[in-house]
Amino acid sequence: MFSAYDSYKIKFMILTEENDMEDKRFVYMDHAATTAVHPDVAEVMIPYFTDKFGNPSSVYKFASDNREVVSNARRTIAKTLNADYSEIYFTAGGSESDNWALKGYALSHKDKGRHIITTKIEHHAILHTAEFLSDNGFEITYLGVDENGIIRLEDLKKAIRPDTILISVMFANNEIGTLQPIKEIGEIARANNIAFHTDAVQAYGQLPIDVNELYIDMLSASGHKLNGPKGTGFLYVRKGIKLDNLIHGGQQERGKRAGTENVPGIAGLGKACEIANSTLEERINRETSLRDYLIDRILMEIPYVRLNGHRTKRLPNNANFCFQFTEGESILIMLDMEGICASSGSACTSGSLDPSHVLMALGLPKDVAKGSLRLTLGYENTKEDVDYVVDNVKAVVNKLRSMSPAYEDYIKNSSLKTVY
Ligand SMILES: *Cc1c(COP(=O)(O)O)cnc(C)c1O
Repeated sequence: MFSAYDSYKIKFMILTEENDMEDKRFVYMDHAATTAVHPDVAEVMIPYFTDKFGNPSSVYKFASDNREVVSNARRTIAKTLNADYSEIYFTAGGSESDNWALKGYALSHKDKGRHIITTKIEHHAILHTAEFLSDNGFEITYLGVDENGIIRLEDLKKAIRPDTILISVMFANNEIGTLQPIKEIGEIARANNIAFHTDAVQAYGQLPIDVNELYIDMLSASGHKLNGPKGTGFLYVRKGIKLDNLIHGGQQERGKRAGTENVPGIAGLGKACEIANSTLEERINRETSLRDYLIDRILMEIPYVRLNGHRTKRLPNNANFCFQFTEGESILIMLDMEGICASSGSACTSGSLDPSHVLMALGLPKDVAKGSLRLTLGYENTKEDVDYVVDNVKAVVNKLRSMSPAYEDYIKNSSLKTVY
């Protein structure tokens, strides 16, 4: 069957052919930003938009299918985490899950303490929620990271206070892909009677996760990062963890998250989680070897480049580089002209180029951090895609450097230094 991705590829080729008579490839390598809905996922969703439109809360038989598909998705997801069915709550995505975990836990435990520990490299869904809480009577400690983007367990232990109620550390970073020592963090939290939340939006569906083995109390995940629909996600909440509502209203989700269930979305999310977890091992092997091939080629073939994130303790699909004497945004624009979708850790906000908080937390100088490029693989990517991308990155970086006065100066000065 043709996927939506294939048809987009073909459309793109026709479009570019019409416009400039060139037969260009289209390569999507930005799977950390979002992914295409898997064709089998789209298929299970469609009937819930059309024939089976009932409200799961209705009593008549017509709605029983809607109740059932939601229950089945909950059961499927619980199994993938070694969790109980009753510990999965559907949300409208990773951001809502993160907001709920932090605000809900903080509010329901404010009498016990008001101190929360997180990291400097979290997604904004955590960082901005933490800021909101700090404006509302809570104290936040932001742990730094080493040059690979990994927190130091000693720092975590030192940050713990008698009034610490919650530790929130992301499973895998969305920019540089580094994996945190989740089990060790969980053990420390458990030993200190502190709840442990992890934003696993990038990790869930890419790596095996057992919430019991890893001592995780709450876990956020999102549908559209794992070939599921946008606007869907879930929060795992360990039995016995008290959590205030984020959304009040009806009795849906056992009274913990009001609002008529997004039945097509939940059906799709369940299917996406099922596919992601049943193909986990094969995708990890395939993507890890493609990733390593990509990293090796870039590091070998392009000078003045830095790999961001740990060489091996990283997501199977993530590669992130800084190319000195370039700007990430310029790389992206030039890659886009070659039909390549990628991402950069520096966003051009109001005319100034601000390197991401994650790259800055690694301790990189600003002018190195601003030349960053993130390439994230998906199940559709092939070795030919990687070769096409690497060849184009090489050409683009060379071109940008040839126009860079800083590069010219550097080359001049360094050649002076090497004159015999
Ligand atoms: C994408 C992402 C989120 C936000 O998820 P949405 O479903 O887009 O709201 C949160 N955390 C991380 C690490 C992410 O990558």
